[in-house]
Amino acid sequence: MNTPVVYSDGYALAWPGHVFPVGKYRAVAGALKERALVTEFVEPSPATREQVLSVHRPEYLSKLEAIADGRARWDPRFECPVDRAVLDAFLLQAGGTILAARLAVTAGRAANLGGGFHHAFADHGEGFCLLNDVMIATRVLLDEDLVPTVAVVDLDVHQGNGTAVLAAGDERIFTLSLHQENNYPPKEDSSLDVGLRDFCDDGEYLSALSWALGETAKRFRPGFVFYLAGADAYAEDRLGGLALGFDGLRERDRTVFGWAAEQGAPVVALLAGGYAEQEADVTRIHVNMIEELLAAGRPSE
Ligand SMILES: [Zn+2]
Repeated sequence: MNTPVVYSDGYALAWPGHVFPVGKYRAVAGALKERALVTEFVEPSPATREQVLSVHRPEYLSKLEAIADGRARWDPRFECPVDRAVLDAFLLQAGGTILAARLAVTAGRAANLGGGFHHAFADHGEGFCLLNDVMIATRVLLDEDLVPTVAVVDLDVHQGNGTAVLAAGDERIFTLSLHQENNYPPKEDSSLDVGLRDFCDDGEYLSALSWALGETAKRFRPGFVFYLAGADAYAEDRLGGLALGFDGLRERDRTVFGWAAEQGAPVVALLAGGYAEQEADVTRIHVNMIEELLAAGRPSE
């Protein structure tokens, strides 16, 4: 079966001059088409108000809307501009993560060429994250009984602090975060946290990953996997301090997809962060990841 890849040009974030490579969504989509890895993208609709409110506080959503419309003061914790277009892009990317999750339940795997905003909490956003798309989609999967349990495998270089807090106390959700210990954010408690030392290289990273995935499978039976494939574990990343190369990152992706298949769990891959000196490197890391996803075998039934 084909692997659905969800994307819209509406994902673009209008943050000129920001460290976040805002052109990456379009660049990744363009590269996938150019290389004929994907012929057609599936277009998402924005997450609904009800879906957003299954995770976020109503006061927070109202505040976001007021900021977007210029009626309230911006919160510096966002670390990014917020206007109507930006909020709409976040709603659309969250809708994309929901759609990719629904499609993966049937297809076994899918990707959203966006998403992974793991620093968003119920009542505030920070670190370039306004809405926690992963938790919003998790609620849809669990509330509609589409899957029994969800594992979040967060390999962005930064800890998934918002996700950890939002998932806490729900035994149907397991959060694994493998991140650079000595970096933003202040750490929260995931189900399993692995804090890596600065300049950790491919070999050290991959052995920690394989231990962490083994440990996750010992403690939890994943009925579904969200994979946050942040490109910021790359050696040349401006906001990350690990030392992975292109091959190590590709091996990382292959390892996660292989593990999900072994668990018999559908998987959705998300882009999350990535701030390399060269924007083309970010694109390359994400494209390689999608290539590995497409190559991965469908989970055995
Ligand atoms: Zn990150």
